[in-house]
This record gives sequence, C-alpha cells and structure tokens, in this order.
Amino acid sequence: MKVSEFITPEDEKEIVEAIKEAELNTSGEIRLHIEHTCTGDRLDHALEIFEQLEMHKTELSNGVLIYVSIDDHQLAIIGDKGINDVVPKDFWESTKDEIISQFKKGHYKQGLINGILEAGKQLKQHFPYQSDDTDELDNEISKG
Ligand code: CA
Ligand code: CA
Repeated sequence: MKVSEFITPEDEKEIVEAIKEAELNTSGEIRLHIEHTCTGDRLDHALEIFEQLEMHKTELSNGVLIYVSIDDHQLAIIGDKGINDVVPKDFWESTKDEIISQFKKGHYKQGLINGILEAGKQLKQHFPYQSDDTDELDNEISKG
C-alpha cells in the first residue's frame, strides 16, 4: 500500500490539524512518522527516527513520536526523557488502544487523529499548555 493510499493528502491535512489541536492542551510536542516497513526492532528503529527528526530539541524534553509502518503493521510511541521520568510505564496504552481499535476497522486517518488527541490529553496531566508556548517541533507528517 502506498502512503497516499494509507492516508490521502486530504486526510493528512486533518491529521496535522489534530496535532495542532492536541498541542493546545500541552507543552508536549507530537510528531507522526509513517513508512512502509520497519527495519529491525520496532522500538529501536522508532528511537532512531526520533533522533533523526531531532525530537530531543524541546525545552522540557517532552517530544512524542508516533511511529507507524504500513506493510508490516508496526506501531510504536516514543516519548522523550522528560516524559519518561514522570509517567507510569503504561502511559501510552490508551493512545495505542485508540489507534489500534480504528486501524482494525481500516479507519487509518481516524485512528491517527484519535491517537494524537488522546496523547495530547494524557500529556496535559504532566505538561500543561504554557501561555508562552511555541511550536518547537514541526507538525507536518514525516514519511519514510
Ligand atoms: Ca508547543
Ligand atoms: Ca508541534
């Protein structure tokens, strides 16, 4: 499946809007990376992408990468150190559930949007939106 079949350019706009909306809840920064196949270990690879995208460059170390590979159905959520230091281990479960439950029905755009909004809600508990917020990490979808 092509990335453009997985999410159309129209879907992409809605997803970027969801990232903007989620980031109005929190000082955390959410990014989405989509590619065809995950090489090697899912979490190791997602961590590499996190580094490639320079997602550690946030003041509070609270960037979050949602990683999806289309052909081999991998999903990983990587939070930066600032998040991992303060949240329980199962912190991203509700976000994963939102994504997976929609993906199972073939509703890819909706899964990503629901997941992004849920991640924003979860982050809000620990990293509320700051009045002097800046958009520290690009909201555009990264594609491999
Ligand atoms: Ca921000
Ligand atoms: Ca952002």
